[in-house]
Amino acid sequence: MSVLVCGGAGYIGSHNVKALIEQGEDVIVLDNLWTGHKAAVPEQAKFYKGDVRDGAILDKIFTEHKIDAVLHFCACSLVGESVEKPLLYFNNNVGGMQSLLEAMTRNHVNKIVFSSSAAVYGEPKSVPIFEDDPTNPTNPYGESKRIMERIMHWVGLAHNIKYVSLRYFNVAGARHDGSMGEDHRNETHLVPIILQVPLKKRSHVTVYGDDYKTKDGTCIRDYVYIEDLAAAHILALNYLRDGGESEIFNLGSGDGYSVMEMINAARKATGRDIPVEIGARRAGDPARLVADSKKARKILGWSPKVTRMEDIIATAWRWHLGHPNGYPDIE
Ligand code: NAD
Ligand code: UDP
Repeated sequence: MSVLVCGGAGYIGSHNVKALIEQGEDVIVLDNLWTGHKAAVPEQAKFYKGDVRDGAILDKIFTEHKIDAVLHFCACSLVGESVEKPLLYFNNNVGGMQSLLEAMTRNHVNKIVFSSSAAVYGEPKSVPIFEDDPTNPTNPYGESKRIMERIMHWVGLAHNIKYVSLRYFNVAGARHDGSMGEDHRNETHLVPIILQVPLKKRSHVTVYGDDYKTKDGTCIRDYVYIEDLAAAHILALNYLRDGGESEIFNLGSGDGYSVMEMINAARKATGRDIPVEIGARRAGDPARLVADSKKARKILGWSPKVTRMEDIIATAWRWHLGHPNGYPDIE
């Protein structure tokens, strides 16, 4: 049987494709290359360039391959952009889920592992955040992820599709050997932005606010290593194959790090000076987001291996040093 990875040319999807191949899985990738890169897809995977909202290409893939499960990474995922273009986010994210579940139902595929996000929680009342805490998304991106979870819930009940929704907190780092990494052309994530300074692509990091009620005034997040995240997907896939019920899991390391702590960890990992300027708060940023991931540890047997920020950032540094311009553009 094969696994279909939708969005497998993106940052997280491509690391998952690699991990699946290393586990001996046969992998098919569907990606429209909006933000992903063909060069990020390992050559052992069969690649289809196309849109997950296109039922015809999904039917073609499900007909040409015996697929038992889908990993679904496709999304527009920039919070700020989602506020400006909510219709794009609902069309692509919600529309993509609708189309994928329709095709899975038509083709009798009944297992899906989905990339959800801590953004479904919005501003938490307390941390750490548990899976059954209230979900009050504060932007269309988080709202789209929550709607996608609810669609899986109702379609799952009607058509016996089992799902695992993985609510990632902040994903960071690159493959341990530096051969794959994060290459978002419109970069907004903290770790690659910090590393642009020693790469001489920017003069300093702007810290978005130092007046939060946190230990050093800067925002606290829970960073999870990309290869630990990929391992969680394989555990989730095998959980569903073993007959597991539909579930939602938080994925984070369980420890919070402030923006300044991340910058200091990057200074150590790179051995370089990284100048900082304090800027205004970024609209909608919660002060503190930290996961309680005990459920994933207990039910999936997941245990993140790389949890020192300096070590996570060192993997990203290796990737960026070896690929200063990211992936080559090939179609
Ligand atoms: P990414 O942009 O690198 O990957 C998304 C991939 O999906 C890209 O390759 C893109 O080309 C593809 N895609 C988008 N729309 C598509 C469509 N309609 N049809 C086919 N392909 C399509 O993003 P990422 O950082 O790898 O994130 C992957 C998933 O994880 C997303 O769903 C994102 O919302 C979620 N997530 C990411 C983070 C993070 O820290 N990066 C945190 C929480 C959740
Ligand atoms: N951040 C920052 N400067 C930047 C980018 C991000 O201070 O140039 C902060 C941001 O305010 C947040 C944290 O770093 O507190 C992580 O931001 P990121 O965009 O990576 O992830 P998010 O938590 O928004 O999903």
